[in-house]
Amino acid sequence: MKLTIIGTGYVGLVSGVCFADLGNHVTCVDKEEGKIEKLQQGEIPIYEPGLQELLRINADAGRLSFTTDLTNAVRNAELIIIAVGTPSMAGGEANMSYIYRAARSIGEAMNGYKIIMIKSTVPVGTNEKIKAIIAECSSYPFDVVAVPEFLREGSAVKDSFHPDRIIIGSDNPKAAAIAVELHRELTDNILVTDIRSAEMIKYASNAYLATRISFINEIANICEKVGADVTEVALGMGLDQRIGSSFLNAGIGYGGSCFPKDTKALIQIAGNVDYDFKLLKSVVDVNRDQRNNVIQKLEEFIGSLRGRTIAIWGLAFKPNTDDVREAPSQDIIEELVRRDVIVKVYDPVAMDNFRKGFDHPNIIWCSNAISATEGADALCLLTEWPEFAEMDMRVVGSKMNNAVLFDGRNVFKRELIHHLDFQYYSVGRPHLN
Ligand code: NAD
Repeated sequence: MKLTIIGTGYVGLVSGVCFADLGNHVTCVDKEEGKIEKLQQGEIPIYEPGLQELLRINADAGRLSFTTDLTNAVRNAELIIIAVGTPSMAGGEANMSYIYRAARSIGEAMNGYKIIMIKSTVPVGTNEKIKAIIAECSSYPFDVVAVPEFLREGSAVKDSFHPDRIIIGSDNPKAAAIAVELHRELTDNILVTDIRSAEMIKYASNAYLATRISFINEIANICEKVGADVTEVALGMGLDQRIGSSFLNAGIGYGGSCFPKDTKALIQIAGNVDYDFKLLKSVVDVNRDQRNNVIQKLEEFIGSLRGRTIAIWGLAFKPNTDDVREAPSQDIIEELVRRDVIVKVYDPVAMDNFRKGFDHPNIIWCSNAISATEGADALCLLTEWPEFAEMDMRVVGSKMNNAVLFDGRNVFKRELIHHLDFQYYSVGRPHLN
């Protein structure tokens, strides 16, 4: 098929590469010229394992191209995918302006029947508004199909080729059948629903996963007080097939471009129909407290933070991505700097993105994990990059002013670190000191 994807970010770019690899002819559109220029030269503007190589193969084969010319890209396509951002607004509501602008541009460019697939995460009822906007601008026939995206940054290529399921929300069986056909090679688990249910499935899924994280974090907080070990507790819980083991890793909470914004948006969606989503509000509160606790804990471990030096390992909201949107590192580092702490930071790929959003004279940008720890009064691990787990902690301890480690992701074996004369603190596990 001839596809055009509007929005060449984490979702649009990976989907574009994936659909091209399946043999479709794909044009990826973005409004950012710099991004498109880079892509035209075969360079990817994000860090996503496996994507670069696949992009080059498909671009060289002539199945994948990049442009800022939305009008022509729409005219040349049978199927158009919207994958623009839907970031949070101040009140938590999803910002729909990028979506509506894209819909208007599609409407103005229409030159025949097209299917418009919405991959962006959008509040219930948005697909109908998109339909109305396109119909306002054009008299050509078209269908809008909701196909929410579930890929995870860091494993986005694998997730795109091997999704757990594809959800297709449509009010027209013919359009739904074409959408099913497009995804047929990827999985047999394709669920066709009405449009509103498809929109809701995406929010409900993210809200549920966020709930599991906040749940296990609260269990961790109680474990700390009663002397239990949350990793053992999660292991034991996960053996129950009704529960399962995923998303039960206690730590400093979730971040990223999806869970924080989608939980807040769902609270708003519920509020708009006079439903008070109490459970989800607590999930959000627990997550905020969990990252705030880091500062409080550091103070308990080393006393007043003012004038101290703290090393930070990890800025990305999770490993294998350069995405720092709503990462716990942001709140934690901003608070440390506010308290006159010298913060020595290191992340294998997310330093540039973090620095674009927040820089300060108290932040020292380090070129490797060891140099970040030199002269530090404490080390905080905020992202579980594999390289941190493999560090020689004896060397790390010898570089530090005080061998104090706060492991915000429970990466290290307690006994091992304790044996190296570290004061070691983690989340929901008894201290050995
Ligand atoms: P992103 O911010 O990385 O990318 C969005 C891109 O759209 C940007 O490059 C922007 O320049 C472009 N854009 C905006 N308006 C445009 C327009 N009118 N014309 C052309 N380009 C335009 O966003 P993302 O992380 O890829 O997320 C996209 C959507 O997918 C969001 O709704 C998000 O919630 C959802 N989603 C994201 C993930 C994820 O892991 N990132 C996973 C599942 C779903």
